[in-house]
Amino acid sequence: MNIHEHQAKEMLKKYGATVPDGVYAFNVQDLIEKAKSLKTEKFVLKAQIHAGGRGKAGGVKILDTLEDLAVAAKKLLGKKLVTPQTGDSGKEVKRLYVEASSNIEKEFYLSCLVDRANSKIAFISSDQGGMDIEEVARKSPDKILTTKIDFANEISDKDCDVIVKIFNLDAEINNQAKSLVKSIYKMFIETDASMVEINPLILTKENKIICLDAKINFDDNALFRNPDIKKLRDLSEEDPLEIEASKHGLSYIKLDGNIGCMVNGAGLAMATMDIIKLYGEEPANFLDVGGGASKEIVTAGFKIILSDKNVKGILINIFGGIMKCDVLAQGVVDAAKEIKISVPLVVRLAGTNFQEGKDILEKSNLNIISASNLSDAAKKIIKEIK
Ligand code: ADP
Ligand code: MG
Repeated sequence: MNIHEHQAKEMLKKYGATVPDGVYAFNVQDLIEKAKSLKTEKFVLKAQIHAGGRGKAGGVKILDTLEDLAVAAKKLLGKKLVTPQTGDSGKEVKRLYVEASSNIEKEFYLSCLVDRANSKIAFISSDQGGMDIEEVARKSPDKILTTKIDFANEISDKDCDVIVKIFNLDAEINNQAKSLVKSIYKMFIETDASMVEINPLILTKENKIICLDAKINFDDNALFRNPDIKKLRDLSEEDPLEIEASKHGLSYIKLDGNIGCMVNGAGLAMATMDIIKLYGEEPANFLDVGGGASKEIVTAGFKIILSDKNVKGILINIFGGIMKCDVLAQGVVDAAKEIKISVPLVVRLAGTNFQEGKDILEKSNLNIISASNLSDAAKKIIKEIK
């Protein structure tokens, strides 16, 4: 789960980090009223969307007066921002944030994430922060330092030293940076975060270390034990199809291709997407129907897949382990009859009761094409949509 920048900054502040004072609102009048309380020479207006790269897309503006702020806020609210992280369709700005401006001396990069490959937590730090960090990663990876931390309740002083060394700061300022790393680590552990990214982290002309931007992602699997964090979820930032899927216990992620996929098990779903790509086409989605696909679940799955207008055909790939293929086949037949599927449907069944399952599909008189293995399934659905 993602949260907005202003929420992330509030959380960082609670853990002792320094962030600019700011206010947020859903309309211009409210924003201006609240902004009057900010003690600052200039106002920084920032679009709140769940995507980075706002600065270059016109989503961050520095303004001299409240009047200028009102004009800029009016223009920004409701606008669709297209950034490298939003996809081509962009994201509509529905809330605005105004904060005090900082006098930037230098911009750094600091993030903390789960290093799955090494079962550790990793900090990434660089003295080349700001809006071009992706470019730095591509062109000068040596300017980016990764520090792996052994899991513990607290981060050691030594690790903090290593992480901030790349910033090359004077002793007193270095201590501010180290204390920030400690705060971020504590927050990361206590909130079940999966990523905290501060870009830019800045040194101000007044020698203060401040988090000027903040992104936090949380582990969805741990949200049940963090009700206060769950409250910060902004459903309007998420894909409506993905929200609908989660109501039915389905894991669905929309993609850009033409072939809808319905699969049981995340690994098999990945393999199904891979094989579609191997044969030259693109999957329209990832969809894991889980272990017990009833008629209701399959129906919900079909409806979600078919709400994507790009879908020209559907590939169902089921391995019957605990789930029996005949039960699933009956679910597919019942669901297909109920919602009248208008695109070609290829079904590959393997495992428990697969023959009974195939018989059910054949006897259904529905236009369902049966496939004997993964390659066969991919080839058949691709042939159908050509
Ligand atoms: P994004 O990463 O989405 O582009 P940021 O919050 O990082 O958005 O803002 C982009 C740039 O705008 C920053 O790199 C910084 O130079 C400038 N900026 C952002 N907030 C402030 C602020 N409070 N004061 C001064 N400059 C700011
Ligand atoms: Mg940023």
